[in-house]
Amino acid sequence: MFHSVVDESAYNRFDGIGPDVHMRMDEFEKIIRIIHDKHNPVSIEDATKKKLKKNSIVITFDDGYKNNIEIVKPIIEKYKIPITIYVTTGFIDGSDYPYEQLLASIIKKNRYLKIYLEGDTVTFPIINYEEKVTVYGQIREKLKCKSSKYRNTSLSRLIRTYGPNREIEFLSLDDLIACKKSPFITIGSHSHHHQVLSSISNSDALNDIQMGKRKLEEWLNVTIEHFAYPYGAYNRNVIQIMKVLKFYSAVTTNQYAVRSKINKLYEIPRFEVKCLNDFKSAMNEL
Ligand SMILES: [Zn+2]
Repeated sequence: MFHSVVDESAYNRFDGIGPDVHMRMDEFEKIIRIIHDKHNPVSIEDATKKKLKKNSIVITFDDGYKNNIEIVKPIIEKYKIPITIYVTTGFIDGSDYPYEQLLASIIKKNRYLKIYLEGDTVTFPIINYEEKVTVYGQIREKLKCKSSKYRNTSLSRLIRTYGPNREIEFLSLDDLIACKKSPFITIGSHSHHHQVLSSISNSDALNDIQMGKRKLEEWLNVTIEHFAYPYGAYNRNVIQIMKVLKFYSAVTTNQYAVRSKINKLYEIPRFEVKCLNDFKSAMNEL
């Protein structure tokens, strides 16, 4: 499981404030070359619907970062390796944006953070690096399990004070259509608002998952059958929603390998890979 693949200079600009989702392009290409030479890469479709061969590997991307088309697509097409991109539709149509990224951009640029939290406006000094890291971590945790409606109350005030701060780009609708046309890319859903689905109400979870699926189906004119739980979070109710909405499979962030056959189609495990070493240690688990 990957998120974002960037060139070395963009990678080096990442200073530890904000979500740790980027991997270096040269390391990504090395991983793809190893998979090409030593493994049996399969699509999520084949992995869930056909018999798994030995050494099979499924490559997935979450969220829908712009670099998935600019950097990842040319590499995987060169080696003819199938991938799945699980897309958060709110990030594509711009109606939503990852609150972690917004928060990080504002914290990096300012000396004080004035934020509306739990009915109060609070101000945090964020003058030095340690303060920035601590405040980012604290507020990220405070907002993480809240519904997008709650989060957006805080975020829209932040945007009014500090501006939009959308530094990280996501796929556009045209990009998504171009990805869908590639014989090596499957598009899956990653909800609409990217919430912790196990922490919000059942009806909010259903609406969010349904909206993400419907939008993708309208945009791409295909049936969307595969899902990735945002933050890897799910429970029995969320699995029930998967069944009601007729998803065929759902991937988690439970890190272990599947032996011979995928038994639980709504709890497929994945290894998170942010560098070549992550990949090597995941391979040692097999
Ligand atoms: Zn995600």
